[in-house]
Amino acid sequence: MEKNLDMIVEQISKIKKENKKVYTKDVYEIIQKYMKLEINKTPVIEQERKLYYISAEFLLGKMLTCNAVNLGILEDLKKIVENEGFTWDEIQDEEKEPSLGNGGLGRLAACFLDSIANLNLAGDGIGLYYHFGLFEQKFKDNKQIEVPNKWFDTTSWFTKKDVLFKVPYKNGYLEPILYDMEIVGRQHTHNILHLFDLKNVDESLVREGIEFDKQAVDKNLTLFLYPDDSDEAGRKLRIYQQYFMVSCAAQMILEEADQRGWKIDELDQYVVVQINDTHPTMIILEFIRLLKERGFMLNQAMKIVSGMCAYTNHTILAEALETWPYSYLKDTVPQLIEIIEALDAVMKERNSNPSTAIIDENQNVHMAHIDIHIGKSVNGVAKIHTDILKETELKDFYKMYPTKFNNKTNGISFRRWLCTCNPELYLYLKKILKNDPSSNPNVLKRLIMFADDEEVIRTLQKIKLHKKQEWVKHMKKKQGIDLNPNAIFDTQVKRLHEYKRQQMNALYIIYKLLKIRRGWKPQRPIQVIFGAKAAPAYTIAKDIIHVLLCLAEIIRNDASVSPYLQVCFIENYNVSEAEKVIPASDISEQISLASKEASGTGNMKFMLNGAITLGTNDGANIEIAKLVGKENIYTFGKDSNTVIEHYKNCDYVSKDLYEQSDEIKELVDFIVSDEMLEVGNQESLIRLYREILNKDWFMTLLDVEEYIQCKEQMLNDYENRLKWGKMMLKNIAMSGFFSSDRTINEYNEDIWKI
Ligand SMILES: *Cc1c(COP(=O)(O)O)cnc(C)c1O
Repeated sequence: MEKNLDMIVEQISKIKKENKKVYTKDVYEIIQKYMKLEINKTPVIEQERKLYYISAEFLLGKMLTCNAVNLGILEDLKKIVENEGFTWDEIQDEEKEPSLGNGGLGRLAACFLDSIANLNLAGDGIGLYYHFGLFEQKFKDNKQIEVPNKWFDTTSWFTKKDVLFKVPYKNGYLEPILYDMEIVGRQHTHNILHLFDLKNVDESLVREGIEFDKQAVDKNLTLFLYPDDSDEAGRKLRIYQQYFMVSCAAQMILEEADQRGWKIDELDQYVVVQINDTHPTMIILEFIRLLKERGFMLNQAMKIVSGMCAYTNHTILAEALETWPYSYLKDTVPQLIEIIEALDAVMKERNSNPSTAIIDENQNVHMAHIDIHIGKSVNGVAKIHTDILKETELKDFYKMYPTKFNNKTNGISFRRWLCTCNPELYLYLKKILKNDPSSNPNVLKRLIMFADDEEVIRTLQKIKLHKKQEWVKHMKKKQGIDLNPNAIFDTQVKRLHEYKRQQMNALYIIYKLLKIRRGWKPQRPIQVIFGAKAAPAYTIAKDIIHVLLCLAEIIRNDASVSPYLQVCFIENYNVSEAEKVIPASDISEQISLASKEASGTGNMKFMLNGAITLGTNDGANIEIAKLVGKENIYTFGKDSNTVIEHYKNCDYVSKDLYEQSDEIKELVDFIVSDEMLEVGNQESLIRLYREILNKDWFMTLLDVEEYIQCKEQMLNDYENRLKWGKMMLKNIAMSGFFSSDRTINEYNEDIWKI
């Protein structure tokens, strides 16, 4: 390796010899070219069986540093770059982050690919290549606006390839092309992520913002991830995107099977397909269709496909469980209709309960029901989530297929969420543990031995302060704002959704603002940090962003408050931003309404980086609490049983809580106070106010008082620096369980058996 790296130095000096200035872009390109060569020298992972992880999203993040970590050359590269007078961050900044995902589900897929390669398992990813990805978020007049994110450029790690097969469309065909990226692991072997694209995409269809002609599917298919589906054309476009993805996937897999001589009638011996949420569900139907074309009977085809496919459920939110009108499917994918009907008939024979029907009485097709009936495995993503699926949401299915159901608690890649984003902490842990926690996450437990070692605790705190200073510099450069690295960093970064309850955090900010104005100054400044995109058609989510930005403005302009409280909203939150803010944070806000967050993975990233969780008893928070013990986490709020009962009995009335408590009333009323209306949009503020007052579907007012108390307690405890440091240490020590290597080993042992 050492000798090889000289190539990089030589190429840089070559530019200098030509009397040219060396730019960071040049250095990036030289390093990337070198790394691509090295990666291509590593062998493809080959085994008897192979996994295909199919997902509509892969929220990859930048690849430069992570690839360097996996090749084991990061520290050497940093030295080279610094010798040339650059910082590693400057070089890394050159890369554009691929915009191929939305949130946790897409990031999970990316962490899984990293772990699969690192565990030396044969497993490729399959998805779509979206030209403008998920929109890029900008703020204007305290509101979110969306612009296309043109992420692909020369800094990308993807390579374009031709494809031989075609995808049926109307009376003809559409032509796919392929973008491949190598996923390299520490064993110096690699798998591939395959992203399919439509050959004839017309980027010029995009008009104002992210508007485009939704009818022209043969030209717009892969322009955006999650195009607006509030009308029929949008919904049909999404169906066809999904079909295009799965048809390409199924044809590619069958092509590979033919090449390798895998017998199609025992394909389930060689192939396992993990279906990430319901977006790729039609792969089941498409496989059956293709097998029938090859002469198999429906029953035979069903049996083979059953043996191959496994399904991961990510949500119990009713509105997020995908159904498509039968008529839309008939229009867009008529080639699958016969199969849908046949499966529906077979399953209605098996069980006449309407709750398990594929086609319901309203002629809607339930995608998850296809996965559960046909797939060989159904998994939830945290213990409580799987339990709720079995006992409540999918209980009729659980009765039918008890052995299909299993739990796989999510995890995160330590190569990215420790080595890449917090090398200071990583190298320190590696040194004192005398072992590498990113390959052996369990060694983190040994940190407990240092729980009373003040020097270790002070060092952890020094690293935290350093990461805060770095982030403050970054935010000054990016958004021009002045932040205080000595403040307590209280962070809520995740998609904007009412169930995640950013609005409850807004009520806390109002509480604190009023307190400070009344003379209750905190001992130390508090920095409340947000990062969140709202779906473009999700009005209330955008109203919540608006309220937070208005609060930020009011506080910024009030000299009696701003020295003690600041609100900072990270524009266009993505993986790169997450990598910077998470290591800098003290408090990890995980405040979803109990029973609603399937798992969460942000919570794990914060824990690993020494932030303390302020959370409800929901998703993986529960598993974090169990590992660290109640003295090392702050939990509050009603539990999932209570919440589920409220929904069942329809007896939650937010207005009663508002009227019964002067404190709550004051906080909610502030949303439509004169000073808010002065900086904000009246329609938007009133809409959110009324929503909380009259509906509050995710029960903000149920938990808000306990939440405020709990956070105040936390801020107090922060002043006992040694006690807080010990909590940090214990959280880091117990975080090994949340390595995605553990998760992937479980998938492999129970489902994939590669
Ligand atoms: C981890 C991650 C998420 C998921 O966060 P949750 O808090 O689990 O919802 C979303 N977006 C990005 C960019 C992430 O890195």
